[in-house]
Amino acid sequence: MSAPAIGRFAPSPSGPLHLGSLLAAVVGWLDAEANGGRWLLRIEDIDPPREQPGATAAILEALTAHGLHWDGEPMLQSTRSAAYQAALDQLAAAGMLFRCTCTRRHLRAHGGSYPGTCRAHGMAALPAGTSHALRVRVPDGDAARIHFHDRLRGDCCFDLAQQGDFIVRRRDCLWAYQLAVVVDDAAQGVTDVVRGVDLLDSTPRQIHLQQLLGLPRPTYLHLPVLVDDRGDKLSKQTGALAIDLSSPELNLARVLLWLELPGDPTLPVQTQLAAALKAYRPDALPLGPIRLT
Ligand code: GLU
Ligand code: ZN
Repeated sequence: MSAPAIGRFAPSPSGPLHLGSLLAAVVGWLDAEANGGRWLLRIEDIDPPREQPGATAAILEALTAHGLHWDGEPMLQSTRSAAYQAALDQLAAAGMLFRCTCTRRHLRAHGGSYPGTCRAHGMAALPAGTSHALRVRVPDGDAARIHFHDRLRGDCCFDLAQQGDFIVRRRDCLWAYQLAVVVDDAAQGVTDVVRGVDLLDSTPRQIHLQQLLGLPRPTYLHLPVLVDDRGDKLSKQTGALAIDLSSPELNLARVLLWLELPGDPTLPVQTQLAAALKAYRPDALPLGPIRLT
């Protein structure tokens, strides 16, 4: 018998749940249920300056109101520093980390990808009080090509060298998203990652870290983004994505219909989810982008 599927929903508490994150939660839940698996929750609270007080409680409340029940206790990334530090130590011992003192201006002058400026410095000490980020090295040449299969988008291939050596601990000493996700997906035993396509180009970096840390690679499914009538991506800031908790049946029906699944705002959320589960096929989801209606 194969191991049970484990999915997860990993919101950042930078604000309440919005329609885009509800969409990711709905598919994540359906996918785990369809596989007879578990659906775990992880609160990605590693960036206090961007967090909103009360957001975590509001997210849990919104998930519950939409019938999206998670298994077990939510994992809080704010409690996971020791595990992230252990991963950094492992990367450093493998000679894959270096201290980077590059300024924003220097990086901007080199366009999007890291030019390798501090690579040769390695982990050597810096003058006392010098703030620095920690970057992980990416390979050069053919070894930099990362291939993976997306369950909706098919085969994807990225050149890590184009993105360059990336940050695993920030200059302000906060943990980087890429490191925390990889360590925690493994710690939670996640087998199937379902998330927005805005994170597609993070996947090769996460696979690179999994390879360096000797962690298993989950499967990936990247969902379409929501756009306005002009085709522009909707963001939390515009307010268009806010959800009204007094009408979970309507919110859920909208999301299900966007996903080309049955949704009916006159039915309770449990009934809608049960019908959607019968119709759910991961490879039949729309590729998007999805126009907000
Ligand atoms: N915390 C991330 C976000 O809210 C999602 C991370 C992930 O699913 O890998 O966008
Ligand atoms: Zn640098």
